[in-house]
Amino acid sequence: MNCVQATRLLSEAMDRPLTWQEQARLKVHLAICTGCRQFGQQMPVLRRISRLYAEGEGSEAGAGTKHE
Ligand SMILES: [Zn+2]
Repeated sequence: MNCVQATRLLSEAMDRPLTWQEQARLKVHLAICTGCRQFGQQMPVLRRISRLYAEGEGSEAGAGTKHE
């Protein structure tokens, strides 16, 4: 498990449940890698922000064009 694989798993964990092997390998990597541990902590926040932006864009664009 390297950092690329670890961050990919962290992002995939938001969309699907990881297998126990993936969880175990990820846990080992996170134990030794501060960068990926921080990425894992920020991941849910980043996802929430990007989702809010995606939702906000649609409604704001609509409100802007509909307003006369
Ligand atoms: Zn790492």
